[in-house]
Amino acid sequence: MTKHVTHWIGGKPHDGTAERQGDIYEPSTGTVSGKVDFAGRAEVDAAVAAAKAAFPGWRDASLSKRTKVLFRFRELVSEHRDELARLVSSEHGKVVSDAAGEVARGLEVVEFACGIPHLLKGGFSENVSSRVDAYSILQPLGVVAGITPFNFPVMVPMWMFPVAIACGNTFVLKPSEKDPSASVRMAELWAEAGLPDGVFNVVHGDKAAVDGLLHHDDVRAVSFVGSTPIARYIYETAARNGKRVQALGGAKNHMVVLPDADLDLAADAAVSAGFGSAGERCMAISVVVAVDPVGDELVGKVKERVARLKVGPGDDPESEMGPLVTRAHRDKVVSYLDGGVAQGATLAVDGRETPVPGDGFWLGPTVLDHVTPEMDAYRDEIFGPVLSVVRAGSYEEAMDLLNANPYGNGTAIFTNDGGAARRFQNEVEVGMVGINVPIPVPMAYYSFGGWKSSLFGDSHAHGMEGVHFYTRTKAVTARWLDPSHGGVNLGFPTSG
Ligand code: NAD
Repeated sequence: MTKHVTHWIGGKPHDGTAERQGDIYEPSTGTVSGKVDFAGRAEVDAAVAAAKAAFPGWRDASLSKRTKVLFRFRELVSEHRDELARLVSSEHGKVVSDAAGEVARGLEVVEFACGIPHLLKGGFSENVSSRVDAYSILQPLGVVAGITPFNFPVMVPMWMFPVAIACGNTFVLKPSEKDPSASVRMAELWAEAGLPDGVFNVVHGDKAAVDGLLHHDDVRAVSFVGSTPIARYIYETAARNGKRVQALGGAKNHMVVLPDADLDLAADAAVSAGFGSAGERCMAISVVVAVDPVGDELVGKVKERVARLKVGPGDDPESEMGPLVTRAHRDKVVSYLDGGVAQGATLAVDGRETPVPGDGFWLGPTVLDHVTPEMDAYRDEIFGPVLSVVRAGSYEEAMDLLNANPYGNGTAIFTNDGGAARRFQNEVEVGMVGINVPIPVPMAYYSFGGWKSSLFGDSHAHGMEGVHFYTRTKAVTARWLDPSHGGVNLGFPTSG
């Protein structure tokens, strides 16, 4: 029997009938494992109405009440970590250990949000004038929406909703229609944790559901993570409709390897960061920039490691890399192999030759060498297990290449020279930088976000930027008369 995934509205599964549905696949076999309901205007309206109705109560819930629910949610997600990981793996294709890692990284944001009493402290200045005090209050916005991509169905929503809810907002999540089940399981865990009905809602679907949120008058803010063209669309549309918006887009992450680097360390890093999760990570390394003369030796070491990578179904504990998310996406990724060769690159490793089980959405790890900036394989975000190697004559040439790239999500440098690393972190126009660390995903108490075409808006996700995004500041100036002065108003300059 195939599963049926529906919306979660007002603390329970939606009981309506869907006019449209989508297929959910099992990527390792290529079979349909279930159907997901797609929301139209009515379902979006119902979810936003539930969130709006829940807002006054949740906004007024004490900080200690909110924190208790967050701590309980943290415990429940932790207890169900393996179950969530298996759910993600079955719909996304990534190996279970990798999916468990995504749950763990999401949990870090829940833990950050457990500190909300401290994070929501405003400022206070006594006696800005005689018997006049000034202070600031951070207040929630109301109903906020999150629209998330397929590649981290637990972690990316958790970049958003723990902080939004801790700040006193109510939330409507529109997860990816490709792997929708984890979001509903998280909603159930919220309910079990004691979150009041309507504070966290889930609507499934595609553009129609997204547009319903973007045009809804009661949605105050929109957080988005996904590809750059959709991020731009979300940013422009939500802003035009008067909403606060942060939209994180696609990526093309470069890893620069300087001649003095430890090449074994760099090759290990390139392989794990290039092929983990089949390259379907916004922080995956997509381009290795080998600074002369290390190119050939580095590619040799990468090839040795790729040959040892175990490709197989996500639920096989032996597997290190699973399939891609859909057949269409796999076919698009494969097109860059012959396309790259036609434009002058060489296939150092051809992932089509990797033995794979069955008729799933498979492509083995692929290394495309001698890639140049004019090639499509360099210019496009491939978002699959294809590692391109570009040769650069010098550090300066490598830096020019990085800074000319339209994306600016993550990058890494491998070197043993502290001065070179320091210069790199200073000069590179990228939001998240790793030094001998290939995937520099910030901890929850820092904020996650790229530059240039990898982010539209000015707030990164989680950390203090998340708190800032999900609150409005109110500045209060207050005068209380001192009874010792007989209640006489002794004056306060009102100008200025
Ligand atoms: P996507 O842009 O196709 O979809 C993201 C969300 O937008 C989904 O919920 C989807 O249903 C919705 N959507 C898709 N088309 C739409 C349309 N025309 N109008 C309105 N909404 C639409 O992205 P994806 O394929 O799910 O995820 C992969 C992309 O996400 C990659 O580009 C990756 O780099 C990016 N990503 C970025 C980050 C980051 O932090 N910058 C993190 C994860 C993923």
